[in-house]
Amino acid sequence: MSNHQGLKSKNLITFPLDIPEVEVISVEINERGDYIVTVESTRNSAVCHSCGRQITKPNGCGREIELRHLPILGHRLYICLRPKRYECSHCNGKTSTQELDWYDPKSPHTKAYDHHLMLQLVNSTVEDVRRKEDVGYDAVEGAVDRCIHASVNWGEFTELKFIGIDEIAMTKGHGNFVAIITTQQTDGHVALLGVLVDRQKETVRQFFESIPSRLWQTMKKVCTDMWEGYANAVAEFDKAHPEVSIEVVVDRFHVAKNYREGVDHLRKQECRRLKKELSDVEYAEIQGVLWPIRKNGKDLTDEELKKLNRLFVYSPDLRLAYIFREELTSIFEMHLTKEEAKQRLLAWRDKISQSTITCFNKFLITLNNWLDKIVNYFAGRFSSGFVEGLNNKIKTTKRRCYGILRNTTLFQRLYLDIEGYRRFA
Ligand SMILES: [Zn+2]
Repeated sequence: MSNHQGLKSKNLITFPLDIPEVEVISVEINERGDYIVTVESTRNSAVCHSCGRQITKPNGCGREIELRHLPILGHRLYICLRPKRYECSHCNGKTSTQELDWYDPKSPHTKAYDHHLMLQLVNSTVEDVRRKEDVGYDAVEGAVDRCIHASVNWGEFTELKFIGIDEIAMTKGHGNFVAIITTQQTDGHVALLGVLVDRQKETVRQFFESIPSRLWQTMKKVCTDMWEGYANAVAEFDKAHPEVSIEVVVDRFHVAKNYREGVDHLRKQECRRLKKELSDVEYAEIQGVLWPIRKNGKDLTDEELKKLNRLFVYSPDLRLAYIFREELTSIFEMHLTKEEAKQRLLAWRDKISQSTITCFNKFLITLNNWLDKIVNYFAGRFSSGFVEGLNNKIKTTKRRCYGILRNTTLFQRLYLDIEGYRRFA
């Protein structure tokens, strides 16, 4: 270290550069305080670009390249190298440049530094990483492109037993959705398979067709919400290929969301009515029931239960709706066969139909349309709870990246947020 030669040896440390097949020629510190480590390759061959043979006849060096490497004690570090060149006797003396494993010829970084950037980028933004690392925006995105496939790498999968389809809204309001396809692997790990530009049947079907056929027989269940596009895409794919046998399972959490909305709607209506009809003192007694009524009965505190019962005195309809909702939830908690579940759900439906309660009307239509796929849940109790868990992560990623990404890059960024620590740490 030329600039440090005056220092006492007590102030120096020596450690390996940890890059294979190189010899350190010099270490300098420039005016910015960056370490410039010049190295020379110790490998004495290259692969001929024309014929693929190992070639060993030297032919000078290429021009010097400078690669950003991992920081050292808070300083930036660059590796300088003149790549060796060799000529091939089989190809009229054509020369080829030696390639080494620790960097990519087109990259301004070492692979280790690319991985370092990926780790910084997990749950963060390109802008943030760019500023912390003092690199260009393009340099960070370039690293993403080098480290993460633009779409799924099917080679990583040997089975796709459980697939989940969900969506996220890209803009507030309606219409602009992307579909997110995930799989839960047998070891429990949830992997991202695709980010589709929309949730149209054709888009989803084409995605399924793009899955390598060696995986088709391993695909057993696809868990979705109640969106025709998904169910029909899977049904068409299933029908088009005799070797494919996939069951569509409507996610129980989406079913629950659907029927719970009815009760929520009735609560709002009844609270508005009671606000007008009750005295201020009486109304104060039932204020703040929003969360208690959303909870399942068994999770209520005594205080909440008291408040709820007070409300139910004023609104018998809401009481009945609450009881029906809890009954329905308890059906999904039971271990039933598909046929038993179907009978229970139909009995529940008949009870609602005969009552004065109308807040489940919308749900009853849904139940009729989707009954078979809803009861498919009971065989194996497969739900996309794993997708739900992932969904919050996906929403955060989307908020962070929204407006600055193309869809392929959204795949890369989601992939990084999901797999980043596993892969790059
Ligand atoms: Zn050759």
